[in-house]
Amino acid sequence: MPKTDFIHVQDWVFDLDHTLYPATSQLFAQLEVNMERFLMRELSLSRSEANSRRARYWRDHGTTLAGLMLHHNTDPHAYLDEVQQIDMSVLAPNPALGAAIAALSGRKIVFTNGSRSYAKQVLQALGMENTFDDIYGIDDAEFISKPAAQAYDTVFGKARVRDTAAAMFEDDPRNLIIPHARGLKTVLVGNSQSAPHIHHYTDDLTTFLGALVQGATCE
Ligand SMILES: [Mg+2]
Repeated sequence: MPKTDFIHVQDWVFDLDHTLYPATSQLFAQLEVNMERFLMRELSLSRSEANSRRARYWRDHGTTLAGLMLHHNTDPHAYLDEVQQIDMSVLAPNPALGAAIAALSGRKIVFTNGSRSYAKQVLQALGMENTFDDIYGIDDAEFISKPAAQAYDTVFGKARVRDTAAAMFEDDPRNLIIPHARGLKTVLVGNSQSAPHIHHYTDDLTTFLGALVQGATCE
């Protein structure tokens, strides 16, 4: 991994779910159960219909919420309040990753398709509540989900992210298309899918970031 690729980076943007904690965690399974229940009740669907609808909205619109808002005019506040009621104790603190992020020089930002308050709870459970300079949730993006370009326009604008001096870390390859087009360095986490818009991938973010810091002190 060429360390020089990141020498210019001053703004470090991280996705939250499955980027700062692994996809093997039981956290997302709880969200899925809640989403399924919401869809069954609000759209009068069976469990299996709700499941396939959730998968379709995620595939077509980036998040279940984006599909619900588009097709059913769902209130995002009500949806997020209900769906994000989960037990954070399944997450273990990750001091090594927190230290690797803290050691990066520049600003560190979280940008998630969850709400800002949900992100704060997750970061607290990971022991990273003081690791980031700013947290941007979907409520900061006018409820437009990544990978829509407008979500990045809004959040990067608010955060004053300098595209050509920034890097973004994500587990969903779709969410790196716009960052790549804007000139950010892109890193796919926990997923080895290759695509022209992905500069690097890693299944061990702590080691990846550690090598960058090591590189900066050596050069
Ligand atoms: Mg994610």
